[in-house]
Amino acid sequence: MNTTNQSTIKSIVIGSGFAGISSALRMRALGHDVILLERLDQLGGRARTFKKGKYTHDAGPTVITAPFLFNELFELFNEKLEDHLDFIHLDPYYRFYFSEEDEIFDYRSSIEDTQKEIKRFNEDDAEGYKNLLNESREIYDVGFKKLVHRPFNTIFSMISQIPALLRLKCYRTVWQMVCSHITNPVVRKAFSIHPLLIGGNPFTTTSIYALIHYLERKWGVFFCMGGTGKLVKELEKLMLRNKIVIKKKCDVKKINTQNNKVISIELDSGEIIEGDNCIFAGDPETCYRELLDQRSFFKSLLPEKKYSMGLYVLYFGTKKTYKDIAHHTIWMGGKYKSLLNDIFEKKVLGDDFSLYLHRPTATDKSFAPLGCDSFYVLCPVPNLKGNIDWNISGKELGDKIINALDSTILPNLKSNIEDVFWMTPEDFSSDYRSTYGAGFSIEPKLTQSAWFRHHNRHKNIENLYFAGAGTHPGAGLPGVISSAKVVQELITGKEVGSGE
Ligand SMILES: Cc1cc2nc3c(=O)[nH]c(=O)nc-3n(C[C@H](O)[C@H](O)[C@H](O)COP(=O)(O)OP(=O)(O)OC[C@H]3O[C@@H](n4cnc5c(N)ncnc54)[C@H](O)[C@@H]3O)c2cc1C
Repeated sequence: MNTTNQSTIKSIVIGSGFAGISSALRMRALGHDVILLERLDQLGGRARTFKKGKYTHDAGPTVITAPFLFNELFELFNEKLEDHLDFIHLDPYYRFYFSEEDEIFDYRSSIEDTQKEIKRFNEDDAEGYKNLLNESREIYDVGFKKLVHRPFNTIFSMISQIPALLRLKCYRTVWQMVCSHITNPVVRKAFSIHPLLIGGNPFTTTSIYALIHYLERKWGVFFCMGGTGKLVKELEKLMLRNKIVIKKKCDVKKINTQNNKVISIELDSGEIIEGDNCIFAGDPETCYRELLDQRSFFKSLLPEKKYSMGLYVLYFGTKKTYKDIAHHTIWMGGKYKSLLNDIFEKKVLGDDFSLYLHRPTATDKSFAPLGCDSFYVLCPVPNLKGNIDWNISGKELGDKIINALDSTILPNLKSNIEDVFWMTPEDFSSDYRSTYGAGFSIEPKLTQSAWFRHHNRHKNIENLYFAGAGTHPGAGLPGVISSAKVVQELITGKEVGSGE
C-alpha cells in the first residue's frame, strides 16, 4: 500500500447514490485510483430507475435544484454537462391541490406570479412571502454559501458557528418561521413543506433548512430530460471515461481495520479489496453497526438518533393522458400537524394522507407510450419503528390512494390504471440497507444537524470517510453532492467551495 505517491492512492467508495458517485468522481479528479461498489444491479441508489410494462419510472428524486452542482462534476474533467444532458426549467415549480378546500395553488417560477397566487388566498401574505424569502436568503447566505460544503467534525467547528446560527434563529422550527410571515392556513402549509423533501417534520425541523426555499428561488426547479435515471447513466459514463472501476451487485459486508486504519473491505462473495481510503456512502448507522461491528456499551447508553419518516411509493401508468396535471403536484389531505405527528411520533397509519404526485410525461413523453402517462405517488408513512404489516398495508394504502386520486384530480383513474407496483419502508430497508427503512436517513432536527449529525470522517479510523444523506450537510441532492466536497476537504485539507 502506497500513500506517498498521489497517483497511486486507492480510494474505495461504497454505495453509488449521488453521494457515492460524486465522491468517486472527486477522488478520481484528485488522481486516485477509484473503485465504486454497489450492492444493487444498477447505480443511483434511491435515484435508480424502474421499468414495468410500457412505463418508465424514476424511483426517487425528481426535483433538481442547484443544478450547478452537477455541472461541477463534469467540469472536474474539463467536460460540459450541456453536451450530455438537458435540464428543463419548470413552471409551476409545484402545484398544490388542497383536497378539503378543493383549491389549487401554484408555486410559480417567478416571484410576481407566486404573489398573484398568494393574493387569491390573502392579500397581505403576498408581502409576507417576500419577507419569508428575504429571511430564507439570509439563512442561505450562511448555511449554503459558507457551511454546507465544510466539515463539522470538531466541536470547535460547531461552537464557532453558534453566533451566526443564533442570529439566524436556528432554534425556531420551519413552521414557526413560516407562520411569522404568513397568516393564511393554506399558504402556510404550502410554504412549510420543504423539510418533508429531506425527511423532516416541518414542526420540528430547524429553520436553517428553510434555506431550501431560497435555493429553489435562486437557481430554479429543473427536470432532467430522460429523468434522473438519464442523469445517473451519464454520470456512470463520465466515471467509465475516466477509468473509475465500477462493480455492481456486490454487498460490502465488512470493513477491516488495523491500528485505527481501514486496510481493506470484504464483499459478500468473500473477495477482499485493499485501499488507502474508504468512503462509505450508504447509511452511516448501518456501517457502524454491521460493517464495523462497533456496538459499544457506551454508545448504547446514548439516545438513539431519530430517523426520518418512511416512504410508500406507488408507481403506475395510465392508458390515457391527464394533460391538466402538472409535472409536480402536492396533494394535501385535510390534516397536517396531526398527520405528521402520527407519522413521525406515534408511528401509526391514520385514515388521512398527503401525497406528492410525479407526472414526468408532463415534460418528457419518453416515460410512457403515446396517449399514456407515467406516474408515481409518494406518501410519507411511519418508518419501521412503527408496527405496520406492510404485506397487508401496502395493498390497502395503494387502493386508498387510487380512490382518493380517482375522486379528485385523476377522474376515472380506476379504469385507466395499469402496471401498478409499490415500494414500502421494508424495501428501503432491504434494498438500500437503510436503518428502520427510513426514506431519507436521520431527521434534520437541530440536535441532528452539523456537528450533531454523523461526521464525515470516523472519529478514530483516520482513513474512513462518510458521505451521503445521513452525514453533514444532509439529505436531498444538493446536500449529498455537497457531502462529497466535505470529504474532499477532509482528505486534502483544502476547502472546495460551495460552487455558488
Ligand atoms: C422517493 C424519493 C423521492 C425523492 N425526491 C427528491 C427530489 O425530488 N429531490 C431531491 O433533491 N431529493 C429527493 N429525494 C432525496 C434524495 O433522493 C436522497 O437524499 C439522495 O438520493 C440520497 O443519496 P445518497 O447517495 O446519500 O444515498 P442513496 O441514494 O441511498 O445511495 C446509497 C447506496 O449505497 C448502497 N449501499 C448501502 N450499503 C451498501 C453496502 N454495504 N455495500 C454496497 N452498497 C451499499 C445502496 O444500495 C445505495 O445504492 C428523494 C428520495 C426519495 C426516496
